[in-house]
Amino acid sequence: MDYDVIIVGGGVVGCAIARELSRYRLNLLLLDKEHDVARGASGRNSGVVHSGVQVPPGSLKAKLNIAGSKQFPKLCRELGVPWRRVGKLIVAQHKSELAKLTQMLGTGKKSGIADLKLLDKPQLKQLEPHINGIAALYSQGEAIFSPYMLNIALAENAKQNGVHIKLNTRVVGIKRLENKFKLATDNGSYTSRYVVNSAGVWADKLAQMAGITGYRIYPCRGEYRVLDKACAKMINSMVYPVPVAGYGGLGIHLTPTIDGNILIGPSAEYVKGREDYRTTGPVLNKLYREALQLLPAIDRRDFIAAYAGIRSKLCRPGSSRFTDFMICEEPKLKGFINLVGIESPGLSAAPAIAKHVGKLIAKGLKLAPNPDFNPRRKVETRLDNLSGELVCRCEQVTRREVLAAINNPLGASSLSAIKYRCRAGMGRCQGGYCLPRIVDMLRETSNEEITFHGPGSHMFIGATKELLKCS
Ligand SMILES: Cc1cc2nc3c(=O)[nH]c(=O)nc-3n(C[C@H](O)[C@H](O)[C@H](O)COP(=O)(O)OP(=O)(O)OC[C@H]3O[C@@H](n4cnc5c(N)ncnc54)[C@H](O)[C@@H]3O)c2cc1C
Repeated sequence: MDYDVIIVGGGVVGCAIARELSRYRLNLLLLDKEHDVARGASGRNSGVVHSGVQVPPGSLKAKLNIAGSKQFPKLCRELGVPWRRVGKLIVAQHKSELAKLTQMLGTGKKSGIADLKLLDKPQLKQLEPHINGIAALYSQGEAIFSPYMLNIALAENAKQNGVHIKLNTRVVGIKRLENKFKLATDNGSYTSRYVVNSAGVWADKLAQMAGITGYRIYPCRGEYRVLDKACAKMINSMVYPVPVAGYGGLGIHLTPTIDGNILIGPSAEYVKGREDYRTTGPVLNKLYREALQLLPAIDRRDFIAAYAGIRSKLCRPGSSRFTDFMICEEPKLKGFINLVGIESPGLSAAPAIAKHVGKLIAKGLKLAPNPDFNPRRKVETRLDNLSGELVCRCEQVTRREVLAAINNPLGASSLSAIKYRCRAGMGRCQGGYCLPRIVDMLRETSNEEITFHGPGSHMFIGATKELLKCS
């Protein structure tokens, strides 16, 4: 199996690169160790298209963030991914924070972000009557979207345009041959002229497989709580606190989601496990306490779920040093492109990262346009699906939508793959009503084992009556 480019990692970055490269006549392969795309940081975040106001001007991060965020309206239109400008407020609660707001206004203007303004208390109250604060920096252009839908849509469109996508395929070794690379995986081996390392929190380990030892990623977990849609009217914009140096993130914020919930989080806690997605009692309580300071109307009874994502940090615990995205073709290993430390605003920057990587590859490969490239993803609109039996009552998901999710173009099969595609199970009852119905539908369509999120995550160990007979 010989390819021009192999992309390792089916997160938003890898899939954006795959789609970008599918504009050209190239033989492309994308590998991911998981049973579906969007299983890493790209499916576990705030879903915000940042404008770049929180990033130091002049950095690669700022450049790619600003360029990437400008591409979102067109990209989301082409891929059929919902996206909405709601604006972001960075809210000062104490006089001591006012200077920081003015400083951020200056930084944002320096980066060329035009639609920024300072709001006094009455102006803030007019926009957000329920929010506590004495002033705010308002960044009007910032938007929300569904991060996992974008990731899935990029992968589907890349596949539609000829990219081979192999899931459940973990890269375990990389060897330099004379003029190409050989990638050993737990599912066969593949060769290619270029390798793109977009393995997220594992990117330093993947670089090590190729003999590059200079990177180290420190995983930093961010936990979230999800508020019921009944709370949607409590805020109109994203609401952030004034950032604190050394916190490890942007501070615990309130983010309306494109689907009508509100997210509280993320926390920032360095952890050992790169995939330790646990949520923890003390942190969830802290999220509640801190969110109450911004939005006193929140009630514990409105929490319907919790989740966590892991940031790929290049700075050690306790350090407040700014670290930039590391994106380069390794000088000592031509053809090997590393993307390391792609933490926030990696989603917002992804479309621009993809173009940047395309330019690096164009230095070594002739990029002839793919005449069949179609930027539009084939997607059924929600309205077409609205009639028929309701399988998920909370999220109003019909049988037809669940079936479309089961028969998805990537062939990803698990309950989470279905949930991420049609939202069945994401509502107030968290699958209490729809889960048995979806399981029945899966049984009608396939004899394969039904898993929660891919191999090893068993849901059933046998039929109840047989188990009783055994005991
Ligand atoms: C808590 C949190 C909140 C965030 N909020 C925002 C936000 O609001 N806006 C924003 O712009 N950014 C945000 N970010 C940052 C953003 O989510 C990331 O920058 C982005 O998702 C990184 O994408 P990625 O494709 O590089 O990594 P990932 O999505 O982690 O993908 C890496 C992929 O590589 C695969 N992989 C790893 N090793 C191997 C291997 N050996 N073989 C095969 N496959 C492998 C993994 O399975 C995974 O699918 C947030 C991040 C976090 C953690």
